[in-house]
Amino acid sequence: MNFKEKIRVINDFPQPGIRFKDITTLLKEGKAFKAAIDELAARLNGKSIDLVVGPEARGFVVGAPLAYALGVGFVPVRKAGKLPAETVQANYSLEYGKDSLAMHKDAIKPGQKVLIADDLLATGGTISATLDLVKQLGGEPVGAAFLIELAYLQGREKLNGLEVVSLVKYE
Ligand code: AMP
Repeated sequence: MNFKEKIRVINDFPQPGIRFKDITTLLKEGKAFKAAIDELAARLNGKSIDLVVGPEARGFVVGAPLAYALGVGFVPVRKAGKLPAETVQANYSLEYGKDSLAMHKDAIKPGQKVLIADDLLATGGTISATLDLVKQLGGEPVGAAFLIELAYLQGREKLNGLEVVSLVKYE
């Protein structure tokens, strides 16, 4: 399936100069959504994975069905202050200012093999902070999966050689 043609690009959102990749047009088509998740799962076939970790909000939309397809658990990463039990936290830089992500302290057992999932890899800041959380808990990151990769932003380079799988690339 040509996934790129299912993704809508909105220019100058949320600010001038950004070409926003809108996945809602893919998600609302049942066949395309299923094919995309199945394709990611197929590309990860043979890899030993214990858990999928996904940052809010679109990381849930990709990560939870991917975990289901792989038959493993899903762990949500949220903005600090949203999770009810004890958390670990990691700070990361946004285009303007900083933000903080959190994960439950008991979400990952030391040595568990973790796949990180999100809708889109841009600069890699979000995924680096998520990796930081996984490592704080002693998890072993084994890869990262995305629907979309903005290759020109070179987010992969921030991920220290972590294997990256993406369905659609913008060069
Ligand atoms: P980054 O931390 O720079 O890799 O940014 C990743 C997050 O920002 C992803 O979770 C995306 O949801 C969102 N994002 C960044 N750039 C775009 C874009 N051009 N279109 C849609 N979402 C984006």
